[in-house]
Amino acid sequence: TMENIAKVAWQKMDNLVPAIVQDATSGKILMQGYMNQAALEATFEKGLVTFYSRSKERLWTKGETSNNTLSLVSVHIDCDFDSIIVLANANGPTCHTGTESCWSTPDAASSVSFIADLERVIASRKGADADSSYTASLYASGIKRIAQKVGEEGVETALAATVKDLEELKNESADLLYHLLVLLQASDLSLNDVIDVLKKRHQK
Ligand code: AMP
Ligand code: ZN
Ligand code: ZN
Ligand code: ZN
Repeated sequence: TMENIAKVAWQKMDNLVPAIVQDATSGKILMQGYMNQAALEATFEKGLVTFYSRSKERLWTKGETSNNTLSLVSVHIDCDFDSIIVLANANGPTCHTGTESCWSTPDAASSVSFIADLERVIASRKGADADSSYTASLYASGIKRIAQKVGEEGVETALAATVKDLEELKNESADLLYHLLVLLQASDLSLNDVIDVLKKRHQK
């Protein structure tokens, strides 16, 4: 919201605060730039993340030449009002080197956020030709078949744990997670909907 603008300690920061852009779904850190007040206002007005570029010495809307823009989701200010996190949806690779994130080394991203990447791929297979991928063929086989697969993988996971076959437990857990993601997608739900339930329980 615009009220965030009023909170930023511009004076303390010589009118330039670091702004970290995170993928709104996966939480992956995409890039970091600097914002002055005009840049933050432009970000809200355009709905596209806009920085103050120290090299260009002007406002810079990310993607203004590449079209790899960042659609604004929300802005968050830290405890002492001198640093900003911007949640956004990336329209193409964010780094000018062509990678999704400016920190493209695999271990810089949390391995949990890989699940979000996987879920996106799984979602993108909806409506695809059944012959084109296993995920597409699962969707085509219908919700009952997918639900049955989740049941089977659940039993296999339980069995592997019972006989203490840790390799098998990892493999079957992977099968279970994958099929659960497909089942959720086929039901027009996402992992975030499930995480919301867990978060609500955790608060109690
Ligand atoms: P763009 O804003 O994507 O149209 O890119 C314009 C120019 O901004 C590029 O040629 C780079 O010099 C610079 N640039 C783009 N993306 C980044 C980034 N993620 N980090 C730093 N500089 C960038
Ligand atoms: Zn701070
Ligand atoms: Zn970069
Ligand atoms: Zn299995």
